[in-house]
Amino acid sequence: MNVEARLAEVKGRIGAAEKASGRSAGDANLVAVSKTYGEDMIWPAIAAGQRLFGENRVQEAMGKWPALRDRLEHDSIELHLIGPLQSNKVKEAVATFDVIESVDREKIASALAAEMKKQGRALPCYIQVNTGDEPQKAGISVEQCLEFVMRCRNVHGLTVVGLMCIPPFDDDPKPHFEVLKSLAHEAGVPNISMGMSGDFEVAIAVGATHVRVGSAIFGARTPA
Ligand SMILES: *Cc1c(COP(=O)(O)O)cnc(C)c1O
Repeated sequence: MNVEARLAEVKGRIGAAEKASGRSAGDANLVAVSKTYGEDMIWPAIAAGQRLFGENRVQEAMGKWPALRDRLEHDSIELHLIGPLQSNKVKEAVATFDVIESVDREKIASALAAEMKKQGRALPCYIQVNTGDEPQKAGISVEQCLEFVMRCRNVHGLTVVGLMCIPPFDDDPKPHFEVLKSLAHEAGVPNISMGMSGDFEVAIAVGATHVRVGSAIFGARTPA
C-alpha cells in the first residue's frame, strides 16, 4: 500500500472509532506524524488533502517544511511540534511551527512567550503531561499540571488550548488517556492530543480531539 491508501485507511478507522463512541464525524483530528520522512513521502499525503502534520525535531522540520509549504498555492499547512523543545531551539521552533504541543516546563514556557512576542506569532500551545511519571520522559507531572496551565496563561501569557501525553510504551494506554481527559476538563482546555498508530482508536473512545499517527500512514521508521 502507498501513503495515499494508508492515509485513507487510517481516516476510515478514525471515522469508525468516532461513530462507535457516539462522537460526531471529524471530532478527532488526524495529526500525520511525518518525522524521518522526506518530501517524496509527505507530498502524497498533502496531495490527498492532509493539512495537519506533526514533527518531533525542530532542525528536521526547518529543513523540509518551508519547501513543502511553498509547493501549495496558499500555505494551509498546520505544523505541530510534538517533540521535546530545548531553549536554544525556541527561536527556530516559533518560526517553523504553527502549534507547540510539548510545553512542559517553566523555562520553556517563558522562552516561548518572549520569542512569540518578538516574532509577533502567538502560537497555540499544549501542555505535555508525563502521565506515567517516567523519569526519562518529557512532560509536567499530573500533580503539577493544573498549576502549570495557570502559570502558562497568567504569568507567561501563552494561549494554552490543550494537553498532550505519550503513555509508557508497555502500559495499557487507556488509564493514561483517562487521566489526560479529566485534567483537560479541570484545566478548561478544549483539545486533548493522545493516541498513536497502535492505540488511536482507544484514545478516540476516551475523548481525544487530536490523534498523532505516523507509522500507520508512512510505514515503519528505520531506527535512528
Ligand atoms: C513518533 C510520534 C508519534 C507517532 O508514532 P507512531 O507510532 O508512528 O504513530 C506520535 N507522537 C509523538 C510525540 C511521536 O514522537
